[in-house]
Amino acid sequence: MSALQGNPFLTWRDAQLCLEDQPLAALAERFGTPLYVYSRGAMRTAAAGYQRALAGQRHRLAYAVKANSNLAVLQTFVQQGLGFDVVSGGELQRVLAAGGKAADCVFSGVGKADAEVLQALRAGIRCINVESEAELHQVSRIASASGLAAPIALRVNPDIDAGTHPYISTGLKSNKFGVPHADALRLYRLATTLPGLAVQGIACHIGSQITRLAPYLDALDRVLDLVDALAAEGIRLSHLDMGGGLGIAYSATDDPPSPQALVGGLRERLDARGHHGLTLELEPGRSLVGPAGVLLARVIHTKPGAEKNFCIVDAAMNDLARPAMYEAWMDVSPCVKTATPPARWDVVGPVCESGDWLARDRDLAVQPGDVLAVLTAGAYGMSMASNYNSRPRPAEVLVDGTSVHLVRERETLPALYALEHLLPT
Ligand SMILES: *Cc1c(COP(=O)(O)O)cnc(C)c1O
Repeated sequence: MSALQGNPFLTWRDAQLCLEDQPLAALAERFGTPLYVYSRGAMRTAAAGYQRALAGQRHRLAYAVKANSNLAVLQTFVQQGLGFDVVSGGELQRVLAAGGKAADCVFSGVGKADAEVLQALRAGIRCINVESEAELHQVSRIASASGLAAPIALRVNPDIDAGTHPYISTGLKSNKFGVPHADALRLYRLATTLPGLAVQGIACHIGSQITRLAPYLDALDRVLDLVDALAAEGIRLSHLDMGGGLGIAYSATDDPPSPQALVGGLRERLDARGHHGLTLELEPGRSLVGPAGVLLARVIHTKPGAEKNFCIVDAAMNDLARPAMYEAWMDVSPCVKTATPPARWDVVGPVCESGDWLARDRDLAVQPGDVLAVLTAGAYGMSMASNYNSRPRPAEVLVDGTSVHLVRERETLPALYALEHLLPT
């Protein structure tokens, strides 16, 4: 038995690739493909790692729902005692449907509709992270009109290069997120004068798939400078939200800091600057669910060619967008070991786009009918899936030791056009 990709829940048992106690090839047979499979144990272990590292520090841990918003995943984190970071009214509604509380949710995002702000306030949201001057006025207007006090933090853009892919970097001046560091003091002063607002904290989130500690510590320093400057003016904040973004190992050569290292580094810096009393909030998404999931796909055809050999599988860019969208490298493994010598393949889907690939130049022993697993696919997989090419989205299964739960059924074809109308004839 050996663990793959640092995931102790993903192991070879003889010739079978297993997630927890379940051979993946058997799950593909039982539920069909493409199929997402998640390990509940891996999610809980990841959450517990953050919780252990945060023990002894005032803190809140909020799972970023957009990474994987399946209700059973949210329920798992509710039971683990986590709060949630939501970026839409839809995500808030999912948290409530999974048994979570709005009082444990923070609402992020650059463009919240009036109806979403009102929905969040009525539900009793713990904090709205405000990302612009216009939004300060919007939240103030809606809160005072409805007689509710809006707890807010300002999301500050610290202008830090997180060293990640440009599409998932969010803490640079050129990004759309947060208020500029230079404007933050003025906007906090404004917030204290606007009706309906209760200023509580400060937030930043510098990007995703961050593999070094330094950008976090630089961002923390920039944010603490503001906390100090605000305190000097009598504006005292009770929490500091450092967002999410911690990277995970997609390949054996990736070596991101552990949650323990991240939290340890942040706590050390907070202590050194005399801010031990601030409540430290974190909003991890990817690092809680990414390693816990795989996407199973069945080989439809092999298509050897003069320049490239294509292994055509039944999962595609609509099911898993990361390779097409960010040129992300994701590991692919057969689910059953064979003695066949490997050949070099591009693993591609059936969608009519050349960008529809899952993996390139991989040495795999494959033949039609085999089941492949795309590893580390628990985050930004199903939550980004679409119906492009009128493809029903995959089913989702959660494994928990010896138990197997179907937590989302495969979409049916009629459901794809159920909301559409033919013209009158
Ligand atoms: C996306 C997002 C997160 C989670 O990011 P991960 O990289 O998945 O950890 C946290 N906070 C905010 C505001 C986000 O937009």
